[in-house]
Amino acid sequence: MPDRTTRFYRHLAQTSNFPMGLEVDRAEGCWIYTTNGDRYVDLISGIAVSSLGHRHPEVIKAIQQQIDRHLHVMVYGEFVQQPQVDLVTLLSEQLPESLSQIYLVNSGTEAVEGALKLAKKSTGRSGLISFKNSYHGDTHGSLSVTGREIYRDPYRPLLPDVTFLEFNDSAVPEAINNKTAAVILEPIKGEGGIIEADQQWLSAVRKACDQTGACLIFDEIQTGFFRTGDLFAFKGYNVTPDILCMAKAMGGGMPIGAFASSPERFRAFKENPPLSHVTTFGGHPVSAAAAHASLVELLRDDFGKRSRRIGEIAKEMLAGRGIQELRGRGGMLGLQLANATVTREVVEYCLRRGVILGWTLHSDTLIRLAPPLTIDEDVLRDSFCTILDGIGKALES
Ligand code: PMP
Repeated sequence: MPDRTTRFYRHLAQTSNFPMGLEVDRAEGCWIYTTNGDRYVDLISGIAVSSLGHRHPEVIKAIQQQIDRHLHVMVYGEFVQQPQVDLVTLLSEQLPESLSQIYLVNSGTEAVEGALKLAKKSTGRSGLISFKNSYHGDTHGSLSVTGREIYRDPYRPLLPDVTFLEFNDSAVPEAINNKTAAVILEPIKGEGGIIEADQQWLSAVRKACDQTGACLIFDEIQTGFFRTGDLFAFKGYNVTPDILCMAKAMGGGMPIGAFASSPERFRAFKENPPLSHVTTFGGHPVSAAAAHASLVELLRDDFGKRSRRIGEIAKEMLAGRGIQELRGRGGMLGLQLANATVTREVVEYCLRRGVILGWTLHSDTLIRLAPPLTIDEDVLRDSFCTILDGIGKALES
């Protein structure tokens, strides 16, 4: 039989001609070990997933206990399943009353799909406002509100009635009107290059939604679970959405997503007709058990502080030194470099020296960092030195 890497290229459908291709043996904490005996510091966490580090013992324990009890038993919402109930109870305790009901799904894009449907059905409107260079997922509905033409074009026709506006533009509130079902945005754009929403602008968008009855959806799939220093970025902004989407870090490494809103709004799924939005595997008991254990851990230890500390160390060590701009909040960081060649060279240099960096979908001149929030300070500092060496070498050549 051909070796595993050969079979990977031959039989696993590929999404590009340049996958990183590391052959993973195991992962623990902030380390990924490959089958050829190398180890790598993970500074991207499977893209903002492994905030607790890989294989956190409490998450593993919860998974093992749930596996011994039951796996899938019934489609979503029919049976009372302890892991789901424990998860939504703990999560809703952290959220305002207006987000006290939580619909569990399997992924980020599915959370966005559900949120868009909920907004349309609960308002009886169809207009959607999104933003240029946003990213909300790759299924048809979420792609319809993703603000990058090159990804949308091949799949037309997409959802009608979607308007793309400039993020942080003062003209946005006026564009929200009584035909708008929803305004969807990432409080800090991830794939769009780690761009923070302006505080006043976000408050003005909130006000315009209140005045027109439009539903404000925050996609916190990337920013959630302390990635930016707050459990959710909306808390830091003190602007509460009508629907909150989450996924990625939620499951502590297991697949799960959710969208939260008010019981009144969720009535739209129960009535006219009932079962207006269903899923077979949403909130799978093993994923829900992992998500609950992960949230207990995140709340027990001060992960907000850990996240902010990562941001501080980045500012102290990286800002200025060959980096045109250091953006982001807490442990969600973007290093803007001189050009695409320098960026590629730095990523390759670091990989050769055992440091995994991230990229973004919409930019080839940005390095994205989202390390496990549990990363040891010395390991983080060493990795930042490697990045600086890489930048130095790339700028010399
Ligand atoms: N929204 C945002 C902001 C994201 O970053 C992502 C994933 N990169 C998604 C939605 C889609 O999530 P998933 O890949 O789990 O479908």
